[in-house]
Amino acid sequence: MHRDTDILHAGYRSTRSDGPFLAGPQFSSTYGAPGDPGKHPLTYGRFHNPTWTAWEEALGVLDGGEVIAFASGMAAVSAVFGTTLRSGDAVVLPSDCYYTTRLVATNWLAPFGIEVRLAPTRDDAQAQHLDGARLLFIETPSNPQLDVCNIRRLVEAANAKGVLVAVDNTTATAYLQQPLALGADYVVASDTKALTGHTDVVLGHVATRDPEKAAALRTWRTQHGAIPGPMEVWLAHRALATLPLRLPRQCETAQQLAMLLASRDDVDAVYYPGLPDHPGHAIAREQMRAFGQVVSFDLGTRARAEAFLQSLTLVREATSFGGVHSSAERRARWGADAVGEGFIRFSVGCEHAQDLLDDVVRALG
Ligand code: PLP
Repeated sequence: MHRDTDILHAGYRSTRSDGPFLAGPQFSSTYGAPGDPGKHPLTYGRFHNPTWTAWEEALGVLDGGEVIAFASGMAAVSAVFGTTLRSGDAVVLPSDCYYTTRLVATNWLAPFGIEVRLAPTRDDAQAQHLDGARLLFIETPSNPQLDVCNIRRLVEAANAKGVLVAVDNTTATAYLQQPLALGADYVVASDTKALTGHTDVVLGHVATRDPEKAAALRTWRTQHGAIPGPMEVWLAHRALATLPLRLPRQCETAQQLAMLLASRDDVDAVYYPGLPDHPGHAIAREQMRAFGQVVSFDLGTRARAEAFLQSLTLVREATSFGGVHSSAERRARWGADAVGEGFIRFSVGCEHAQDLLDDVVRALG
């Protein structure tokens, strides 16, 4: 079967069963469970929910592992940290990853005696910091500069030193990149982005092939309460069926946009792994099915970037990315990433490519 067909049916009821194709969201804080609780598959809403189970089964098809759904991408990241790191351990993080991941490490792990080592994604620089570490956490392509690292190579370097590897797969999604197949111990993702694609939910998940790690993550979720709501999960599951339609189109338009921007003298720099002169292009070709739907570029100054954003008519000025409606923002407004004042992160949606490109050209003036 083709992967797209698998995704369409993933987590749905069998084609021979009666009733709805995908059961509606189950809202229940508790379940009838007399006597010995161990005799009942469902007991309490923080422990389990059939809507999550179907969603986890579906994501398992994409990631190729066991999936534990979380209330957000950050809840998923925190669960990997929480189940792997103890006082005295060291974690190697990308210095250019999503800034909240870095904040969690420096604000919440370091005070508990966990050493936080930072190194750039580019050139697999994190491989130089593995000695004595417990966890290597990588993010490729990184957000927002879209640098790329070689997952297989970093996994091999980490395995040789007994270091666990987690990959934040948010920008690529499991549709474009499968880190578990490349040897990673964990995949974490914010499903708030392209995976669900409709800018209506905040969700995350972790995938792993090791049943013990999966069990620990489930216990973490149950005890910390980082559980997703059934309504969000059901909306996400509904959206997943169209992922193989949405994302390739977004990636194609993103490639066109990146090429258009790269051809202009008034754009200082373009960051997109699909461009042949991107430093990570060859690795991205190898480990990704397409290059993603986010394009970053630099317009030099804050004033020019702001004027550009204000002149766009089809593109909303908003944070986050991955939605079917294009959006863009000036990243320096958050003060968290090492980017210039004119740096734009552009999330390409499902508009007709020509309309979107025309809008961008018009806004660039
Ligand atoms: N990881 C990456 C790469 C992200 O871009 C984000 C959010 O932007 C997250 C994790 C956190 O996800 P969430 O906002 O769903 O908690």
